[in-house]
Amino acid sequence: MSNYHRSEFVGFGTCAPPNFIPDELYKWLFFPPIKQVDDVPAAAPYGLRKVEAQLLSEGFSVRTVSPNHLKNHLAEAKVLGIHVMDPFGLGPASSTLAFILNKEPFLAKYFRVLLSQPAVKKAKKNGLKIIVGGPGAWQCQIRPKFVDRYGIDCVIEGEAEKFVGKIFRAAIEGQPLPKHYESSIEESPKLEEVPEIVNPSVNGLVEIGRGCCRGCEFCSVTLRPLRWVPMEKILREIDVNMKVGGIEGAILHAEDVMLYGSKNTLPNGEKLIKLHETVVKKCKGMVWSHCSLAAVAAEPKLFSKTAEIIKQKQSWWGVEIGIETGSPRLIGKIMHVKAHPFKPEDWPEVVRTGMGLMHDNGLVPAGTLIVGTPEEKEEDVIKTMDLLDDLRGMRSLIVPLFFVPLGRLQREDWFKGTQMTDLHRELLIKCFRHDYYWLYDLMDMAFAGSWQGKVLEPFFKLFAYIVKFKARQSGISLTAGEQAYIRPQKLGVPACS
Ligand code: SF4
Repeated sequence: MSNYHRSEFVGFGTCAPPNFIPDELYKWLFFPPIKQVDDVPAAAPYGLRKVEAQLLSEGFSVRTVSPNHLKNHLAEAKVLGIHVMDPFGLGPASSTLAFILNKEPFLAKYFRVLLSQPAVKKAKKNGLKIIVGGPGAWQCQIRPKFVDRYGIDCVIEGEAEKFVGKIFRAAIEGQPLPKHYESSIEESPKLEEVPEIVNPSVNGLVEIGRGCCRGCEFCSVTLRPLRWVPMEKILREIDVNMKVGGIEGAILHAEDVMLYGSKNTLPNGEKLIKLHETVVKKCKGMVWSHCSLAAVAAEPKLFSKTAEIIKQKQSWWGVEIGIETGSPRLIGKIMHVKAHPFKPEDWPEVVRTGMGLMHDNGLVPAGTLIVGTPEEKEEDVIKTMDLLDDLRGMRSLIVPLFFVPLGRLQREDWFKGTQMTDLHRELLIKCFRHDYYWLYDLMDMAFAGSWQGKVLEPFFKLFAYIVKFKARQSGISLTAGEQAYIRPQKLGVPACS
């Protein structure tokens, strides 16, 4: 449980395995434990805060605690609920890094450490029930022996508001629990059934919408209905973060922030602008969690207007985007709405236009690429590499991720590192070169304006240098071709990251 030095980009460091710098130093750099106030964390992951709010509204006595402080609270607990993002390191980013470094990621290590605590084992002997939930809960089905060995009684997958209380009550009353409960579409709550958080979320994240209308076949989000949270509710949650947690910035979370309030793939200009004007008035700064390239490319003027509003208080902001591939053929096959309102064959141009607009307007994306999707051919990988060349001058991080079978493709095979071809390797190296081209610039931007940033920056730069050095020792140059590009002017200091 960390706030990653108040930067979500830094949080990606948890996906790596232990490496060439000491674990404690790595932990301090990438995921320092969150501050405690009266033995409870000053902020907690948003999904956990939602479950906390739901259970409180049903009359349970709930305490949200951090793993490092668990032992102080277990004696009184009847049920231990654990929120997991990526408990076995099987998520796309972790499994890719685990293959490259050939080790188990930190996320997996610390999940095991949490469950191995003597206090947990003792409480378990005394009848404690353990329930696991959160975005990474699906991984428990792939590790059933671990689930049994560590005494996990029940795993909850999906949106839990409508049934989590029933399961916790059954656990307290000693009734039988389902081993794995996957919520159905019918159990997706209506907005009025979703409680507001009552305690601060990490880095001020607030949900502005759930679900996605684009229907990519590898994605589980798209199986849920699309719902947009009314502005008053968003503002009340920002108030909780500000007043209770002293968090003055906000992360607006949705699968596509550009589509706030829209019923289709075209942005609703009025609602988007109103949301941003209101949030900017209230907060010192903001970040988006995700947005689509297609929505940005479809409405360049609206995007620029939104950017102007945001930049009244900061010079740049960050977001995660899905580039996925440079191949229109793959787009048409497994994510044919990704480019909408454009056609699948327009996808490379949509990416270039969207990322160009982001670059010009101060939005810094971390874009993901999928490696090894079912039916991927050599020609698709080559198209992705060509697209990467075109993106070199656009300030961004580009992260290659091995295909993980989720959503409608959950019966497909995983992409294993051993299936990597020379072309895949070349693609990965191209991504790392792109990232190294921008990395130092991004670090300057992310750490500017605060004394903590000034302390941290040299350590991150040293870490980046060591990675580059180790790569060169293995015969890989992460800076090849740099001289061929002229980097555009630097952006100024952010108010909030
Ligand atoms: S656009 Fe993103 S969130 Fe939406 S279905 Fe595709 S991958 Fe999932």
